Amino acid sequence: MLIAIPGEKLGVIEAFEPRGDFIIKDGNIYATKLSDVKVDKKQKIIEIKPLKKGFVSVGDIVISRVDYVQRPFAFVTIVSALNKDLAADIKGMIYVNPDFEYSPVVEGSIIRAKVIGTSAGMLMLSVSEPGLGVLESYCNYCGGPLVVRGRNSAKCTWCGMVLRLKLAPDFKSKALPHRVMLD
Ligand SMILES: [Zn+2]
Repeated sequence: MLIAIPGEKLGVIEAFEPRGDFIIKDGNIYATKLSDVKVDKKQKIIEIKPLKKGFVSVGDIVISRVDYVQRPFAFVTIVSALNKDLAADIKGMIYVNPDFEYSPVVEGSIIRAKVIGTSAGMLMLSVSEPGLGVLESYCNYCGGPLVVRGRNSAKCTWCGMVLRLKLAPDFKSKALPHRVMLD
């Protein structure tokens, strides 16, 4: 699913025939609403379908699951927005500054993030503001439960690993159903 935000340039009119909800300005095709975009390169058609009301816009706070971290990005699936579960899997990304010692989120964590825009058809999220960050996580090495050690640091009670994370103020630890023995 490719997502476009209002005002996002989707292509040029010489190259594609737009269908759906869009505007054309100076030969460029722009989305007018938060839309699902389908590009048919063979037929040279761009279909721009506005997403249902109640879907996320820039500035919204969403709950997401972190699928994997491959710096400089963390790849996430948005599971709910505006306290509503979403029918479709919406993918998003968080930019992780390569200069940072650690990623603010880890694989498997549930996070609260803010929608800040789109890039390459994916929603861009951020956890940098206060109140945002990891809501639930287990140790990403062994699956054990974590205890908060201080600001943005948690320790695994099973393997002793210390994780640096951007913790939300209401962070809760969880554990994988089965313990993974490492030694
Ligand atoms: Zn552990």
